[in-house]
Amino acid sequence: MFRTPQILIVGGGYAGFYAAWHLEKRLKRSEASVTILDPRPYMTYQPFLPEVVGGSIEARHVAVSLRRHLRRTTVLSGRATSIDHASKSVEARMNDGRDVSLSYDIIVVTAGAVTRTFPVPGIAETALGLKHVEEAVAIRDGLLTALDRAADLPKGPARSSALTVTFVGAGYAGVEGFGELLSLSQAAVKRYPEIEPHELHFHLVEASERVLPEVSAKTGAWVVRSLERRGARVHLRTTVTSAVGGEVVLSSGERFGSDLIVWTAGTAANPTIAKRSDLPVNARGLLIVRPDLRVGTDDHPVTDAWAMGPASTTGDAWGRDDAWAAGDNAAVPDLSRTASPPYVYTVPNAQHAVRQGKRLARNITRTLRGAAPRPYRHRSLGTVATLGLGTGVFEAGPVAIRGFLGWLIHRGYQVLAIPTWERKIRVAAGWITALFLGRDIVSLASVQRPRQEFVSGGRLEARPSSRTGDADAA
Ligand SMILES: Cc1cc2nc3c(=O)[nH]c(=O)nc-3n(C[C@H](O)[C@H](O)[C@H](O)COP(=O)(O)OP(=O)(O)OC[C@H]3O[C@@H](n4cnc5c(N)ncnc54)[C@H](O)[C@@H]3O)c2cc1C
Repeated sequence: MFRTPQILIVGGGYAGFYAAWHLEKRLKRSEASVTILDPRPYMTYQPFLPEVVGGSIEARHVAVSLRRHLRRTTVLSGRATSIDHASKSVEARMNDGRDVSLSYDIIVVTAGAVTRTFPVPGIAETALGLKHVEEAVAIRDGLLTALDRAADLPKGPARSSALTVTFVGAGYAGVEGFGELLSLSQAAVKRYPEIEPHELHFHLVEASERVLPEVSAKTGAWVVRSLERRGARVHLRTTVTSAVGGEVVLSSGERFGSDLIVWTAGTAANPTIAKRSDLPVNARGLLIVRPDLRVGTDDHPVTDAWAMGPASTTGDAWGRDDAWAAGDNAAVPDLSRTASPPYVYTVPNAQHAVRQGKRLARNITRTLRGAAPRPYRHRSLGTVATLGLGTGVFEAGPVAIRGFLGWLIHRGYQVLAIPTWERKIRVAAGWITALFLGRDIVSLASVQRPRQEFVSGGRLEARPSSRTGDADAA
């Protein structure tokens, strides 16, 4: 008896969300059923996280609900812990703690990357990343809480640490998050007569000789000058060697106390995909895919025959393709730069992840209908980045627009790029409101302890920790 193929998408971020969305648009119910597995019930629009840090966008508005926008897809809240393609099953730990085994006919792996860390003493205990909504909110609240605390402290090391922010890593996430937080701090400090603006110290630490590798060296140098003009310090060719107890030590020998440390030093392969899957990965732990996003190489595509062992899977076998991947967890050949092997690969960014997700949906539809999949091909549209309210860059080939106009292009591009009209309208409405009413400068760090007031009944119970503002254990 004919059974509807089951498509399982592991990871509902950019590539996974777009793949599911476009499969829904293309496939009839009778052609396949689609399930998406992600520990988060939403797709995070990561390019807006820096504006969540800066308080220009409400945190909830960068979270695109999977259930609201994927109406025919089954949404499972859990994390894949291993993939066994030979038996076509995924082991998953659901958010309620259950371990389940999910079977499938076709797998789409779009689990993205994770924040890359190095064994720097003190970082794991003190730093925050900037890849998820909760981290962006914690960074913003961390700064605002520190301003409140510093206002009550006498001049000295504790006050200076509270007013010092350190970002480690100057790629997209680092530079944009740093610029936005700098902008927020300078706006907020005006409301604190107890704090002089020159008491704020912002350090951006980068191991290489430049910032924002996605833009030209000239624009990168302009970004450094622009941040320095606003009072920040940019440490190039420098690493953080220790951050124990919030005492930052740089490879240059400089040291300073910093209560807010944000780690944005790049991304690494998703460990589940790199280490707990039998699908082929390269030396960096990224899934090996063909230009049409089927997992495998031209010589060794992963097909139904994979169950018999990778060695038996030679030749073209479209129509039986059952493993696909896209986005930051895949090494996708960049046909706009190399037409044949050895390939160079698409850079891990949202621009590619979105388009790969759509191409993947089209190709699965084609193969299910007996047609050959088509290769993914996309020439970069350029780069946009925010450096804080009113300052940004846009670069496409030889054209570079910096400053206010660059920032306007950034906002225009990103609001058009966030999926669904419902999200575009919410984000744009927030910007318009802020234009007339200014930004909110209240820290809601207390939402982490919602029962405190109820349990204590207003009694003084615990002394707040100097670093986080959290209450120490009683
Ligand atoms: C702060 C910041 C700013 C950025 N700005 C830009 C920008 O301006 N322009 C640009 O082009 N790019 C930008 N990027 C990069 C861009 O956001 C990523 O390249 C893009 O999100 C990659 O999409 P993806 O689908 O591969 O992964 P993601 O969008 O990260 O999605 C991966 C999903 O998989 C889920 N997942 C992870 N592990 C598992 C598992 N084991 N089981 C199930 N699900 C799992 C995650 O919860 C997540 O939902 C930025 C990134 C950051 C962090």
